[in-house]
Formats: sequence, structure tokens, C-alpha cells
Amino acid sequence: MAYPEPVERLIEAFRRFPGVGAVTAERLTFHVLRDPESRGLARAIERAIDEALRCSICCNVAEADPCSICADPERDAALIAVVEEPRHVEAIERAGTFAGRYHVLMGALNPADGTDPSHLTLRQLLERLREGTTREVILATDPDAEGEATAALVLEAVESLDSKELIVTRLARGLPAGGAIEYMHRGIIEDALEGRRPVRRRT
Ligand SMILES: [Zn+2]
Repeated sequence: MAYPEPVERLIEAFRRFPGVGAVTAERLTFHVLRDPESRGLARAIERAIDEALRCSICCNVAEADPCSICADPERDAALIAVVEEPRHVEAIERAGTFAGRYHVLMGALNPADGTDPSHLTLRQLLERLREGTTREVILATDPDAEGEATAALVLEAVESLDSKELIVTRLARGLPAGGAIEYMHRGIIEDALEGRRPVRRRT
């Protein structure tokens, strides 16, 4: 049995969301239909689409162009952390220790959901790097399969610039704080060993 046409269209709209299958799309649709707050949600979606700007420098969603981070003279413009999503900028900002700037790829390579290099903001990153003011690019993608593939793609693109001055680094990986080595996945221990660093000794 098919639902009324407007309902079917909403289900279809939800199915286009990443990671949402038929059952979840249906569940979300009926949640929307019975939730009194849904009109507010519809307006919020419209406003976000109409009013959310993208920063023309870092490609992040922003309230102004350039965004507050790119416009901040206190932030080191020579240091760029390349992240997958706007929420990753938020996460690093919450940590409060990074004084450089960002480049937001707006996704990660994921053949399963159809994300290929053309969906990412690589071209804008290369334009930025060609200006020659960047000293270091930090690959700050997720440590999962998509993030690894994306980091490799960014590295390849950066190397194509053939710039001697530009350093490429990646976020350290390894043991999470508060963890116990005996319960760690093998790959994490491998990463931790590879990423070890000297301890300052009292002389
Ligand atoms: Zn920006």
C-alpha cells in the first residue's frame, strides 16, 4: 500500500540522507507528522539553506564571509588543519588549543554513499596553498577508512604543488587518555608505537 503522495515524497526526501534506509526514512517521516515542533524544523531547514553562507577561504559554513576564524588576525594563517566536516572544526575549537586556521573538505571519500573527489573542496584548498603563505598543512581527517583515503588524496594533491617550503603533518594517533593498553585494538597499539616521542628527562 502506498501512502498519500506528500507523505511518500517526504519519505523519499529522508532516504536521500546519508545512512538512512527505507525503514528509518519512514520512521522519521511519521515522527515529523506527529511532532508539533515540525513546522519549526521546516522553517529552520529553509533558513539554514537560504542564510548559511560558506566562507570563501576555508569553505566552512559561516555567518559571514570570511568566517570569524579566517578573519581573526590572531590566528596563524600559515597553519591549516584540513578537516572533513564543519563539526570537526567545532570539536577542535572546543579543545581550545589550536591557533591556526582550517580548511573544510565538506565530506570524505566514500564510494558507498557516492562521495568522490569532485564533491570535496580540494580545488579551493590548492588555490589557497598556491598563494604561498602556508607553512604547514595538518591532515586532520578521521582515523577510519574514509578518513585515511581522504588524507591520502589531500596529500597527493598537496604534493602536486611541488612546494619545498610546505610541510604536511597529520594528527598523532594512538592510545586514548583514560584507556587501558590491555583492551586496545591492535591497530591502535601499532599507531601508538609508531607515533611515540621522546620524553624530556631531568638531567
Ligand atoms: Zn573561513
